[in-house]
Amino acid sequence: MEYKKVTPGISEELRKIFGDRNVLTEVEKMEPYASDEAGKQYAHMPDVVVKAENEEQIARLMELANREHIPVTPRGAGSGLAGAAVPLYGGIVLSVEKMNRILEIDEDNMVAVCEPGVVTNDLCKAVADKGLFYAGYPMSVEESYIGSNVATNAGGAKVIKYGSTRSHVLGLGCISPTGEKLVLGGKRRKETSGYSLLQLMIGSEGTLGIITNVIVNLIPPSNKTVDLLVPFANFDDAAKASSSIIRTTKVYPVTMEFMDIFSVRATTEYLNLPPLPAQDKAEAYLLFTLEGVDQDELDELAEKAGTACLEMGALDVFVASTRTESEKVWNIRISMPTALLEKWPHVLTGDVVVPRSETAEFMARTREIIKKYAKVQLEFHGHIGDGNIHSSLIDTGNRTDKEWIEFAEEAYGELCLLGSQLGGTVSGEHGIGLEKKSVLRQSLGEYPISLMRGIKKVFDPNDILNPGKIFDLK
Ligand SMILES: Cc1cc2nc3c(=O)[nH]c(=O)nc-3n(C[C@H](O)[C@H](O)[C@H](O)COP(=O)(O)OP(=O)(O)OC[C@H]3O[C@@H](n4cnc5c(N)ncnc54)[C@H](O)[C@@H]3O)c2cc1C
Repeated sequence: MEYKKVTPGISEELRKIFGDRNVLTEVEKMEPYASDEAGKQYAHMPDVVVKAENEEQIARLMELANREHIPVTPRGAGSGLAGAAVPLYGGIVLSVEKMNRILEIDEDNMVAVCEPGVVTNDLCKAVADKGLFYAGYPMSVEESYIGSNVATNAGGAKVIKYGSTRSHVLGLGCISPTGEKLVLGGKRRKETSGYSLLQLMIGSEGTLGIITNVIVNLIPPSNKTVDLLVPFANFDDAAKASSSIIRTTKVYPVTMEFMDIFSVRATTEYLNLPPLPAQDKAEAYLLFTLEGVDQDELDELAEKAGTACLEMGALDVFVASTRTESEKVWNIRISMPTALLEKWPHVLTGDVVVPRSETAEFMARTREIIKKYAKVQLEFHGHIGDGNIHSSLIDTGNRTDKEWIEFAEEAYGELCLLGSQLGGTVSGEHGIGLEKKSVLRQSLGEYPISLMRGIKKVFDPNDILNPGKIFDLK
């Protein structure tokens, strides 16, 4: 794709729109905007970075970008794991980091309205102060922004009970790729008014519009929770237990996470923490959160789930009965991706999703597939209750960036194919970005991709907004 470069004259126009303080052109200041957490191997430098403070600036930017044929890449906190916020063709990175105000917490309608650059955890805390609960909870909650959670349809640990970000979004304000203002949905709770552009925008990875405000649903908080940490001596027992526990006990947890021993060791070492209980004997752990209306209900649920785990081969069941104990265990789980990314330069955090009943099969066959490759470590952690295990591939062979990208595409492609055979798909939550474009094409086939291309062309006839993500335009 041929795009124009940002000239000094265009930089000057950008300074008029955004103000000097919000336009970065120095290489060292732009460098952090060249990649995301998918890794430096996908890095591309922008020509310029602009920081928007309001919607009008974004509309003017898109008019200018269309007129000059310069690509624009929206960016949140850069914690994405698919290279979706990388400016593949250079051009302008549009950061929403300064649009970080919670505009309203409407207690009558139980909704919050906020700008896209609000850190998700700040939203969670602000609504908790009003006695309300926002149920979105990606594990990057302390870092990632609400607007990008919408753009990636972020999942996380509580999806099993509460659903992905999509389930919590009632409305969006957007600027279209051609600079038009779009208001989608609102504070209302239902709508059957033609095609749902709201749902189309959610998960579109910044390719169909720039989100300028978000209206999210809030609910009353649950009364009581408890966490169970359950070590298993045998990896397969832990993997199989996840779906059978829910089936046999009918206990529906808020979270059900899996952690293999490799990821637990890497993370406790990274955090410099003492080992978890039974770390010398366990091959894997399950981590549950249960919710109940009162202590009696909670005790009953914990008893049922704990007994089922022991019947399925658990070594023990540890109940985190205080907040401090819970936070200790969750800190390890939350830090897992960072521990891996900090230690190894090339990590592909896979997120194939399959029906929950197929997760154990997916993990067993993945282990077989990866055995044939040399110098790669396979690691599993993640949202087993959703069938969304992160099967991470770690380069232990010092490959070059190019070698790693080629290797990862081939090996991950096999896992995606396996996922499809088991009724799953390429990405449960991280999105496609740059990293998984070719595996998406192989997995979906040409016709669905051609429909997506058609939609993109209607929204963005000049292919200006985040081009080269999800699929390539022909
Ligand atoms: C340690 C760690 C844990 C993680 N855990 C999870 C998890 O549990 N679940 C999960 O789903 N993900 C997880 N992620 C991935 C990541 O945090 C999510 O994808 C998150 O939603 C990205 O938010 P961000 O603000 O960093 O966005 P970025 O990485 O900056 O951008 C992501 C995408 O959103 C687009 N975008 C950003 N802002 C806008 C906007 N205003 N309008 C339109 N498009 C926009 C970008 O163009 C890009 O396509 C994790 C990442 C890390 C590093």
